[in-house]
Amino acid sequence: EVPVLTLDGPSGAGKGTVARLVSERLHWHLLDSGAIYRVLALSAERGGIAIDDVAALRGIACTMVVDFRLDERGKPQVLLDGDDVTNAIRSEACGKRASHVAVLSAVRGALLQCQRAFRRPPGLVADGRDMGTVVFPDALVKIYLTASVEERARRRYNQLIGQGIGDNLPAILKDIEARDVRDCTRAVSPLIPAPDAVVVDTTRKSVEAVVDMVLSQIRR
Ligand code: C5P
Repeated sequence: EVPVLTLDGPSGAGKGTVARLVSERLHWHLLDSGAIYRVLALSAERGGIAIDDVAALRGIACTMVVDFRLDERGKPQVLLDGDDVTNAIRSEACGKRASHVAVLSAVRGALLQCQRAFRRPPGLVADGRDMGTVVFPDALVKIYLTASVEERARRRYNQLIGQGIGDNLPAILKDIEARDVRDCTRAVSPLIPAPDAVVVDTTRKSVEAVVDMVLSQIRR
């Protein structure tokens, strides 16, 4: 079987950055599963589909074509049916919509296939909420990244500012808290560490320190 390293945890725990660096160091493929939920939310919005129209959402989930690639400057890009949606999916509004569609079990089920297709040699680093618990239960290494809610809000704020998307910190903190509640209390695939996951708290830890810690789990 192709080895998988799962990185799960709440928004802003540093999964995205750590997953990208770890996948580069190992030369493994990278799955940003949150981007798939965000793309679905965006596609629904563009198609005028209500956030609770399960049948229509499931239809899009089964047919949309999501692609990840690097642009000519080596920056990661997300494509929906060939259209560049990298910036469009990063807004807080899209993240919020994504966390609403993510509570629907029919939608989650429809996205399983699409996510598992990323498992290709030589290996996969999968970033999300339920990578170790549901999508890749047989993963080689499972990591659960967490950090204090204040630190996670600060990171998300800096990330948005860096992308030139202005936003305010108190609003982000409130959004992250609300999203945590939605992610952790939903009936299907709630956000919890897999029983065999290594829990890493990234509060006040450097990215390099966390990356080394994750890589040391592979080499155990
Ligand atoms: O990680 P990101 O903020 O991009 O994810 C957006 C939303 O998608 C999350 O708030 C969560 O509700 C949902 N999600 C999920 N399962 C995943 C990845 C993301 O439910 N594996």
